[in-house]
Amino acid sequence: SRRKGSGKQIVVRGAAEHNLKGIDVELPLNMFVAITGVSGSGKSTLVHEILYASLKKLKGEYADPVGRHRAIEGADLIDDVELVDQTPIGRTPRSNPITYIKAFDLIRDVFADTAAAKIHGYKAGSFSFNVPGGRCETCEGSGIQTIEMQFLADLELTCEVCNGKRFKKEVLTVEYGGKNVDEVLDMTVTEAIAFFQSQPSGRKVAKRLQVLADVGMGYVRLGQSATTLSGGEAQRIKLASHLASREDGRHVLFIFDEPTTGLHYDDIATLLGAFQALIEAGNSVLIIEHNMEVIKCADWVVDLGPEAGEEGGTIVAVGTPEEIARVKQSHTGKFLATYLR
Ligand code: ZN
Repeated sequence: SRRKGSGKQIVVRGAAEHNLKGIDVELPLNMFVAITGVSGSGKSTLVHEILYASLKKLKGEYADPVGRHRAIEGADLIDDVELVDQTPIGRTPRSNPITYIKAFDLIRDVFADTAAAKIHGYKAGSFSFNVPGGRCETCEGSGIQTIEMQFLADLELTCEVCNGKRFKKEVLTVEYGGKNVDEVLDMTVTEAIAFFQSQPSGRKVAKRLQVLADVGMGYVRLGQSATTLSGGEAQRIKLASHLASREDGRHVLFIFDEPTTGLHYDDIATLLGAFQALIEAGNSVLIIEHNMEVIKCADWVVDLGPEAGEEGGTIVAVGTPEEIARVKQSHTGKFLATYLR
C-alpha cells in the first residue's frame, strides 16, 4: 500500500548544476520518496548539492556553495533537514555505538547507583573511559596501547595493565545485576536489552538501546569501537540517534544516500521499518537508491536519466513504483516491472 502524503511538497525549480537540464522537481512530504536512475544520471547532484545544500542554508547552517538552481519552494513546511551519511561516527576506539546514542550516560548512572559504588565513593564518571578516575590510565581507557614503529604502520597491542578491559580492577568489582561495566560493554545490543529489561532500574537503558535494534543493529556489541564499524553501520547508528532524540511535532526531512549498502536481506526489512517509524512520527524520508527491493516499497519515485552524464539530467518518470514500471524509457521502470510482478 502507498501513502497518499499530505499534499505538501518541496519544489526545486530550474536545477542546472553539472548535467541537470534546468529541471523542476516536486518532492512530496510526509512520504517515503526514492530518487532513482543510473549512476551518473544526476541524483547526487540534485539531492546533495541542491536540495540538501539549499535547505540547510535556509536553516542557517551551511557554508559550502549550493548547486545551481533557480528557486526552492516549501522550505517553510519543514523544521529541518538532516543528511544521514556514511561517514564514521568517531575516529577513536573510545567512541562506540552507545556513546553516540547517549545510552552510556544512562548505563553509568545505574552503576553509580549501586550500593557497591556508593561504598567506594564512585560517581557516574568513574565508569567512563573518557575521563580520568575509573579508567585504566596506562591506555587512557582505550584498552589498546599504540606502539609507534619507524617506517611501519603503528602497532596496536592490547593494554597489558587492564588486559583490554579499559577500567581499573577496583571499578570492575562493582556489579549491577551480576555484571561489571566491562561485561556489560561486551554484550550485544540484543543481549543488553534483555539484561536491562530484567532489572527494575534498567528499563530506561533498555528503551534507549531499543533504537539500535530498531535499525537492525542488534548484533553489534555495546562497547565495539567506532573504528571497526562499516559506513553502512555508522549510517544506521546515526539513524538510531535520530530515532532516540526525535521530538514530537517537529518535521524533519531525512535524506539517505544508498542506505542499504552492505545490508543483509533481513536487515533491509528492519531498516524500512525504521523509515516508516520516522514518517509516522510526522517526518519525511527521501533516499537515493539502486536496490529494487527498496524502491518498490517507496510511496513515490522520481527517476532521473535516461542515461549518465550529458545523456542524463532529465526527469524520465515520476509516480508510484507501479507507474514508473509502465514507463518504457525508464531503466528503473524495466527492473521494477519484474520486481512488482
Ligand atoms: Zn589499559
